[in-house]
Amino acid sequence: MNVEAASASAATPSPRVTAADLAPTLHRLRAATRTRGTPTLEARLAWLDALERMLLRRKDDFARTISEDFGNRSRVETMVAEVVVTVEGIRHTRARLKEWMAPRRAEVSWLFQPGRAEVIPQPLGVVGIIAPWNYPLQLAFAPLADALAAGNAAMIKPSELTPATSELIRQAVADTFDPDLVSVVVGGSDTGQAFSQLAFDHLIFTGSTAVGRHVMRAAAENLVPVTLELGGKSPTIVSRDSALATAATRVMSGKLFNAGQTCIAPDYVLVPAERRDEFVAAAQKAAAELYPTLGSNGDYTSIVNDRHYARLASYLDDARAKGAKVIEVNPARETLDRASRRMAPALVLDATDDMTVMQEEIFGPILPVRTYTSIDEAIAYVNDHPRPLALYYFGNDRAETARVLHETVSGGVTVNDVLLHIAQHDMPFGGVGPSGMGAYHGRAGFEALSKLKPVFHQAAVNGTGLLRPPFGRMMDVVLKLLLND
Ligand code: NAD
Repeated sequence: MNVEAASASAATPSPRVTAADLAPTLHRLRAATRTRGTPTLEARLAWLDALERMLLRRKDDFARTISEDFGNRSRVETMVAEVVVTVEGIRHTRARLKEWMAPRRAEVSWLFQPGRAEVIPQPLGVVGIIAPWNYPLQLAFAPLADALAAGNAAMIKPSELTPATSELIRQAVADTFDPDLVSVVVGGSDTGQAFSQLAFDHLIFTGSTAVGRHVMRAAAENLVPVTLELGGKSPTIVSRDSALATAATRVMSGKLFNAGQTCIAPDYVLVPAERRDEFVAAAQKAAAELYPTLGSNGDYTSIVNDRHYARLASYLDDARAKGAKVIEVNPARETLDRASRRMAPALVLDATDDMTVMQEEIFGPILPVRTYTSIDEAIAYVNDHPRPLALYYFGNDRAETARVLHETVSGGVTVNDVLLHIAQHDMPFGGVGPSGMGAYHGRAGFEALSKLKPVFHQAAVNGTGLLRPPFGRMMDVVLKLLLND
């Protein structure tokens, strides 16, 4: 069966997709990598250029389609977080690819001189990419850019929760790349499951921690190495000395970007107990200034579907039922049409660990504001919970900043703002522990998707003969020398 075409028609119920259905596509891609050999710098630059031009040419189609899938997705959010970030990443890579591809000389121990050692980056083959719905372009195309830069072919499985966008991704890729270089398979979780059973040379999965476990288990069958870009609860610590109005504005803009449906969104805030009310007032003011209206405000993004809306509403119900105070920020006092899935920003006060809002990744416009009395308590709270994908710290005390940076472990950190570490292409991006494994972006992505092959070139005249049997008295002298004993 032609899976790429068959699974494209998501509207009609189709038979469950199996790994056997997808395997021919992988085999075709792999056969082509063999014929292609190691792609030249020029070939890779041309692929990256084609990807960039496709994104720029289709950006308006993408923005419109993502918005249809979400109900409303701010056009600027799509341009900034999907198009600009991805294109910037591609440009960063293009400018440095020659240097990254060059064999790197390695040191040779005196013992093996005058031999020569070098590390040669080599394409792995075919990279599988499973993407989520929340930033459907960035999370399909940034891994693709890294895969192509490293000289690989790729097979992409976008999310079924944004079906029109996934179909547009399939068409755009088909119009841009040889199907033997990049192929897109659209379909639901069964397709994802089948996809993760394929014997890729590397698999990059971006999605939830729960599904990440299944993906890693499936990949283990074929010993496929995985990069897992997962989620979790990313804390924000606001220090005693922090300028609260600025911190509140930055936290709320990061929280409400894409209506909170961001893997690295600040999930909850820890503020000094005596400054909580001041922070809450500043956060309400900031949210109202960022989004003075909600119902017909093009800047404010909808929750992606009814299931996620109901999930978020249930977190608030659960928090209220267990004694939390929920403050909704609906500045124009609009009655929000349930069908539009626009959810008013909400601050949750007095949230406790037995509430779902403090247990599950929120992934929506809800911000629990918790308190601490000493920075030790804030650090301990973070360390008592699973290692997060991101951590944010607002404050100017150098010693305290250093403590937070060194005493907590997270995928990445932005100090005195939120989200921005993801957009720095010269740094690896990835989680740690339950928030992910491995990293990509920039050089880290190139290296993750290359085999960094160590090669030793023996010299015509060398001393290694001394290490061969029969081992006589001379060997004792050599050992003494080697061990400096
Ligand atoms: P998800 O895990 O539900 O789905 C992600 C992808 O996996 C989809 O394409 C889906 O079809 C596929 N899939 C579903 N079941 C599968 C299975 N059993 N085997 C293989 N594939 C399967 O995630 P989501 O709801 O699309 O995305 C939200 C989650 O992703 C959040 O937890 C968020 O934090 C995380 N996320 C992480 C990053 C990051 O860079 N670390 C970025 C964005 C989102």
